[in-house]
Amino acid sequence: MKPLIYEDCQAMDRQDPLCVLKDMFQLPQGLVYLDGNSLGALPKTAQSRVTQAIQHEWGNELIRSWNTSGWFELPRKVGDKIAQLIGAYPGEVVATDTTSINLFKVLAAALSIAASDSPTKKKIVSERSNFPTDLYIAQAICKERGYELVLFDLQEQALDSVLLEDVAVLMLTHVNYRTGAMHDMRAVSALAHDQGILTIWDLAHSAGAVPVDLHSDKADFAVGCGYKYLNGGPGAPAFVWAHPKHVGRFWQPLAGWWGHERPFDFSPDYIPSPSIVRFQCGTQPILSLVALECGVDVFLAAQELGGMYALRKKSLALTELFMRLVDERLSPYGISIVTPRKPDERGSQVSLIAKEGAYEIVQALIARGVLGDYRAGDGGKYPDILRFGFTPLYLGFSDVWEAVDQLHKVMQTEEWRDPRFAHKNAVT
Ligand SMILES: *Cc1c(COP(=O)(O)O)cnc(C)c1O
Repeated sequence: MKPLIYEDCQAMDRQDPLCVLKDMFQLPQGLVYLDGNSLGALPKTAQSRVTQAIQHEWGNELIRSWNTSGWFELPRKVGDKIAQLIGAYPGEVVATDTTSINLFKVLAAALSIAASDSPTKKKIVSERSNFPTDLYIAQAICKERGYELVLFDLQEQALDSVLLEDVAVLMLTHVNYRTGAMHDMRAVSALAHDQGILTIWDLAHSAGAVPVDLHSDKADFAVGCGYKYLNGGPGAPAFVWAHPKHVGRFWQPLAGWWGHERPFDFSPDYIPSPSIVRFQCGTQPILSLVALECGVDVFLAAQELGGMYALRKKSLALTELFMRLVDERLSPYGISIVTPRKPDERGSQVSLIAKEGAYEIVQALIARGVLGDYRAGDGGKYPDILRFGFTPLYLGFSDVWEAVDQLHKVMQTEEWRDPRFAHKNAVT
């Protein structure tokens, strides 16, 4: 194969029907943003919409806006829109709280169901490389309820070897935050259900990144993040879904008044909403929900252009191109790819490892206007990672070229060895 040149990437951009979507975002000129998997870009509509919510809905309408501006229903309204991206139906999703909190709620609900159906099941299984907050929440719940958290490593153990009879819940992140490796949700769910195990999926790196089909893949519970691929803004509300057959069976433990069937009865007795609304807790952050809705609306606008399937096709083409250029231009510098090469096995990010200086290389690259990020390894099995998210909504093929070209310069000049790039920031 002839090595690719810049003009090849420009030609790909000219043939890209989704390139018009970039215009829906406000991005600084000259910046290549490969961190939409950590904080999505700003949708142009968000600024005026949030201003309107502040000036008119809050400023003029005041308390009336809970009714007149649809504030009260907003978690459900945004939830219904997110549902369209993850294979759920209207009324099944609420946008609320954080991913960590939602995980606590669904984990508690799943354990309650498991405890009533099969009380001898006393384990939660997850992956050692799962996002730490997921593991911390599971550890906390294990302490409270007397469960054991069992962590496995897919490189060492086949999944069916850990899905044993005594397991109550399998809790996985669909797309791994470090490597970008993606689970086969349908196959995993089938394996789990064979042993009577409930499944919880964290869609933090899936919703808005890859097509998800919770119903046809037979998931039991799911949570996901609003500020990553959904472009909802820093600290945007997350979302939660439970299969309708599970929703009514148990209370989630954070039984606040917003999960009550009729919160404005002000009854001293908790009666949970019969729907997913019971997964709400207290008063919701309206300004943040308003911004999140703008992010989700971009996906609904993209439906005319083929929606998540078209976005996935472009995302795979972007990650494929990035991997090819890294192979061609960066392997001589000891940079290699840890993300699966098979399209079905990866999400919308590519992770690299370097022989040394991963953190510094990322900092040097950021100084050159290419924003990726760094995720620390554990000094053992998990290496330090240079992480690049590819958001098909606002990235083009020339951007991919530019990113690899700048990384090439960082490596060729060895400028990453400059001590100023070794300064560790609080957030990496
Ligand atoms: C980003 C991410 C989170 C974040 O949780 P917060 O509660 O929003 O801080 C959780 N889980 C996974 C897998 C993530 O990638």
